[in-house]
Amino acid sequence: MGDAFSSSEDFQNLKSLDVPVYCQEELDKDIEREVPEVDNLLFLGRFGTYKLNCGLTVGYISGRITDYDAMYKYFDGKIVDILLTFQWPKAIAREKKLTLVSNEKLDPIVSMVQPRYHFAVGTDSGKYLERDPFKWKDTTRVTRFISLAKYGREDKWCYAFKIGLSNSEDQHLDISSENPFENQIEEPEEEKVLKRSSEPDSVSKKRARLVDPSTCFFCLSNPKVATYMIISISSSVYLTVAKGPLTFPRDELNFSGHGIIIAISHVPTLRSGVEDQQLSVLNSDFYRDILKYQLALIKMFQSIQTTNYCVVFFEISRSSAIHYHIQFVPIPTELIDGFETQLHKTCKKNSEMYPNNVTVQFEKLDETIEEDKSKLESIMNDQEYILFTVAHSESKYIKYIAKLPKEGTVDLQLPRKVLSYLLSTPKRSQWQKCVQPFHVEEEEAQNFRIKFKPYDFTMNNTII
Ligand SMILES: [Zn+2]
Repeated sequence: MGDAFSSSEDFQNLKSLDVPVYCQEELDKDIEREVPEVDNLLFLGRFGTYKLNCGLTVGYISGRITDYDAMYKYFDGKIVDILLTFQWPKAIAREKKLTLVSNEKLDPIVSMVQPRYHFAVGTDSGKYLERDPFKWKDTTRVTRFISLAKYGREDKWCYAFKIGLSNSEDQHLDISSENPFENQIEEPEEEKVLKRSSEPDSVSKKRARLVDPSTCFFCLSNPKVATYMIISISSSVYLTVAKGPLTFPRDELNFSGHGIIIAISHVPTLRSGVEDQQLSVLNSDFYRDILKYQLALIKMFQSIQTTNYCVVFFEISRSSAIHYHIQFVPIPTELIDGFETQLHKTCKKNSEMYPNNVTVQFEKLDETIEEDKSKLESIMNDQEYILFTVAHSESKYIKYIAKLPKEGTVDLQLPRKVLSYLLSTPKRSQWQKCVQPFHVEEEEAQNFRIKFKPYDFTMNNTII
């Protein structure tokens, strides 16, 4: 498994092997390696199937695939006993929150060939995982997924197993684990959008798939929603800590502080969450709840003694979105003066990097000025937009809003990029790279809850 030829020295003095060894390539690194000529060593190539003398069929896919259509055509209608891939299929990686070791293009292949054993490595250094076996609908086939670590590592790097020609023994197994390929949970919106913005036009122009509340990551009715991250719930919105937070705990602030205000209803925008279409969204109970949380958060962050914080809220309101939410991040006050420059800089850089995306231009609005307020209200009522609210204090809010056309691709990572550059942590601009272990998420949520409690307007005895 993995990169068999990373060091050709291993093979220098080797002329033959006692048992047949089958090997394949690693990830696409633009390096053509020479395959050593050793008896009993068989190099499998990019993708294909191989029938062993005993009659078992092995399917293999290296990390170097470029022509996926050819691969799909090749595997169509084939069933294999053992499948070897370099990367993990995404359906399994997502369950383990390790999507970076996966390639979603493998998923249809796994569903097609329904291997009895599927071995992978995921990364150059390998990653050990043995997933519970799962069944395929309308068949007696059972798949076991095993990922192995690199040879010699502390984690398990070898695996012995017994496999017969027929799968009759599998039929008596008591399998309770869900098939991740048949019961796919919807990926978080940000992840999907990130992909959309970096992929070719044909993909980017597609609208988001319809997501049912029972599978939506932000819907409380979804049994898989991360309830341990919830801080507070009001009648229209609720508050959670963010997965893969942009910021770090600092001094007295013993949690990252990056969180999300989420609509309780499964609605894509603020406007669509206000039933009375004649009513301005700014006068709705929905928006009032949001404002209450915003004010409570500003007060909470300003109660931190060791650092002065501003709070930046950001949201993207598009009718093609899945579930309306507003993110927020505490920003040390000493950095906030650089916000506007950074915003324009990031927009400029983004439009150079993604010339086919829609042009995003922000306007600065001060709600205390009547003209600005009505402009803001009109956009929030009738348009699609990206909005930053920079809260310097309980009474000073500056808004930066960019109108968006209904069609076209928008880099929905833009707000996070702006803030990650402002904080001089550009590597944290992708949330997937910042995902924390479960126990850290749980601890941060608990610390947040304690700090937020005196400001939580949904509870009695609050300061507000
Ligand atoms: Zn939802």
